Amino acid sequence: MAKSPKLEFDVGWDLSPAPESTDHINLKGQYDLFINGKWTKPSSGKYFKTVNPANEKVLAEIAEANEKDIDKAVQAARKAYVEVWSKMPAAERGKYIYRIARLIQERAREFAVIESMDGGKAIRESRDVDVPLAAGHFFYYAGWADKLEYAFPNRRVHSLGVAGQIIPWNFPLLMAAWKIAPALATGNTVVIKSAETTPLTLYKLAEVIEASGIPPGVVNIVSGAGETGAAIVNHPDVDKIAFTGSTGVGKIIQRAVVGTNKKTTLELGGKAANIIFEDAPLDQAVEGVINGIYFNQGHVCCAGSRLFIQESVSDLVLRKLKDRMESLIVGDPLDKNTDIGAINSKEQLGTINHFIKTGKDEGAEMYQNSCSLPDKGYWCRPTLFTNVSQSSKIVQEEIFGPVLAVQTFRTIDEVISKANNTPYGLSAGVWTDKGSKIFNLTSQMKAGIVWANTYNKFDPTSPFGGYKESGFGREGGLHGLKPYLKI
Ligand code: NAP
Ligand code: MG
Repeated sequence: MAKSPKLEFDVGWDLSPAPESTDHINLKGQYDLFINGKWTKPSSGKYFKTVNPANEKVLAEIAEANEKDIDKAVQAARKAYVEVWSKMPAAERGKYIYRIARLIQERAREFAVIESMDGGKAIRESRDVDVPLAAGHFFYYAGWADKLEYAFPNRRVHSLGVAGQIIPWNFPLLMAAWKIAPALATGNTVVIKSAETTPLTLYKLAEVIEASGIPPGVVNIVSGAGETGAAIVNHPDVDKIAFTGSTGVGKIIQRAVVGTNKKTTLELGGKAANIIFEDAPLDQAVEGVINGIYFNQGHVCCAGSRLFIQESVSDLVLRKLKDRMESLIVGDPLDKNTDIGAINSKEQLGTINHFIKTGKDEGAEMYQNSCSLPDKGYWCRPTLFTNVSQSSKIVQEEIFGPVLAVQTFRTIDEVISKANNTPYGLSAGVWTDKGSKIFNLTSQMKAGIVWANTYNKFDPTSPFGGYKESGFGREGGLHGLKPYLKI
């Protein structure tokens, strides 16, 4: 068999590099804050660097917003809310949201390339998942803007005012769409902060928002680290906090809003179980497991990071899984053949490696794809652990990387109790030929989403959110309108 020059293992075919061109992208060396429709220098004069995690090169300098800047942004959002946005006929509001959706589509290639450069994800995903879904969310919620009376029949609904929104680094543009689109459709104005390592597509979105002609101050986009997020949370004139991120920060935010009037939604961590029964279509299930945990380098809150295989088929499934892992291509995020891109940051790589070491120290057996990794940048081979126990750290804690913990089970009751045995409850997957088993399992799983014979399927019409320490409130679908309304 031919050897892939890039992979140094037999994949059975040769793949020439197929990098997506970067000629068509337009990046400035420096980005200021987008406040009140204007590019605004940070009051501290401070900028931080955002790097490409695949080669550690600096992409741009990014303004760091402090309390003063957040105050400016909130004031702009309040003024826009009171004077323009809350008074505008709903159908007019909808037109601006449609315009944003169309502009994202028009600039889809640029968005995808920049998302992959700034965050490390494979271009196949940013191109086929992140960007189309982001446009899809704007289209979907644009449609609701003038139909809220049909969404909530016989009820009077009112917007809340200014929404403060804080997002993580795993799906920057998509998370921004999940938050901005329903907020605007329901008549609220927005101050949103990107994560420190992935600010660029939000500032590209600011360009789109500018081009859409939406009145100044309706959407304000800022950047900075945790303190910037805290300044949004603690600002007295913010009516609603929407946060997606870690459970640790979610708890800090919940404590901060106690005793205030701020309505809150928290989308937090996860430790999803993917369950394969002996009657499942096994090849399809293996593909779903691969997609569930290695998609986006495992930087997915709903990643299927725990695999449960019914004992009678566990040897067979493990063999198929390892074979498939070996064919995964790890490398240049901009290459169209790449399955697994770069880990988002040096810090995150450190966290993942720490968990891998813990797994080995706890006596688990490790298997990794044998590919070589680039010299520069942050990389992790797809990794699988067997011989783990329910109490193992790698089974209980969110790793947020391409690391899968595999266990076996005999009965449906056993797997349900094992699957529910974590502090999280965001998502799960089940693979079986029997519909009755699916219904039995979904009704007993403590998870906000249960996928059956598929995994990581998203749609703007479908609500998303967790149980237990995975947070509360729903984003997406009709449910996603509620957190932005007084009903
Ligand atoms: P994170 O550390 O909690 O950060 C999330 C955001 O909060 C970032 O913008 C961060 O800024 C900001 N932040 C940090 N400290 C803050 C504070 N004290 N007050 C207000 N904001 C603060 O999470 P992450 O590492 O970026 O993302 C990974 C986590 O997100 C995982 O746990 C994952 O499961 C979760 N996630 C959940 C969902 C869901 O829908 N349930 C979706 C995606 C991700 P900096 O970036 O500057 O630190
Ligand atoms: Mg970056």
